[in-house]
Amino acid sequence: MKKHNFSAGPSILPQVAYENAAKAIMDFNGTGLSILSISHRTKDFEQVLNSAQELMRELLAIPDNYSIYFVGGGASTQFFHLPANFLGTKAGYVNTGVWTKKAIKEAKLYGEVQVVASSEDKNFSYIPKGFEIPADLDYLYICTNNTIYGTEYKCDIDSPVPLIADMSSDILSRPVDVSKYALIYGGAQKNLAPAGVSFVIIRNDMLDKVVRPLPTMMNVNTHVENNSMFNTPPVFPIFVMNETLKWIKSIGGVEQMYKINLEKAQLLYDEIERNSLFRPTVAAEDRSLMNICFVMSEGNEELAPEFLEFATQRGMVGIKGHRLVGGFRASCYNALPKESVEALVACMQEFEQLKTK
Ligand SMILES: *Cc1c(COP(=O)(O)O)cnc(C)c1O
Repeated sequence: MKKHNFSAGPSILPQVAYENAAKAIMDFNGTGLSILSISHRTKDFEQVLNSAQELMRELLAIPDNYSIYFVGGGASTQFFHLPANFLGTKAGYVNTGVWTKKAIKEAKLYGEVQVVASSEDKNFSYIPKGFEIPADLDYLYICTNNTIYGTEYKCDIDSPVPLIADMSSDILSRPVDVSKYALIYGGAQKNLAPAGVSFVIIRNDMLDKVVRPLPTMMNVNTHVENNSMFNTPPVFPIFVMNETLKWIKSIGGVEQMYKINLEKAQLLYDEIERNSLFRPTVAAEDRSLMNICFVMSEGNEELAPEFLEFATQRGMVGIKGHRLVGGFRASCYNALPKESVEALVACMQEFEQLKTK
């Protein structure tokens, strides 16, 4: 049976990326060697790394005064790397859920943290808006897409202080005005690559704003100066990321990706609204295009395990909601085909017919 992979992360990647990765494991670039076993200093790999950087720059229209690097450790490593570099006295954080809470915890090791806005009062079911941003912050930190709660910022906010954003789960899913950010980063395993690599897009003036002496690997300058090659970078994840980026370009870039993502999300949110057995959990204007959360409607709560079983039997994978939200979460990342969303919608309709006959 065909599987429809709605996993939140690691998650579905383009079919062509799987195919080319499989080939490269057996014979990378006709070298007769596996991508898993070549030096990261080879010309062939350097080309892959440079291509990934160039494609990311092109697809996101990243201005020339920004640098891009790739580094191991996942997004969670950036939770402490970034305040270590940039939090001298006080930073502002917008608390929109688990991932910002974790980032706040790490930042407190380096200085004062002011939570300038939070949506915790309603279990993070919306994005705070219209909050004031004090001018004396070293930076303001946001998470643009909250993978667990299914909320997403719908525009790039204006900030009088350097704006840092965790875009782990919505990078390249929509156009971004990079010039509004001082730094954008994320783990690659949601929308780009297998686990093991993070991307960092940093405005170059930030390189002069490092506030304390740091171990070499923690300093942002190390990675920019050495073009992601200070130590051995995650070679294989970077290879796959490059394949994903090539795929995004081939289908028409981020604008086209965004159009498709809007269509997929609309299809599913419409069904959640229409279907008497389900209801959405997120404020309409803040609903994520990537992580679509829903629960059983009032009075139908006890049907949740049965629907999970029903959907699983029909090939749906990874739709069980995070324990903090309950219900269901369908992650509809870039590479998830529209047919998978259609299959889930059909499944919800079939289940409704079965239960309301
Ligand atoms: C998954 C995720 C993280 C954590 O990523 P790791 O690479 O596992 O550390 C951080 N932020 C967001 C928004 C995520 O979705």
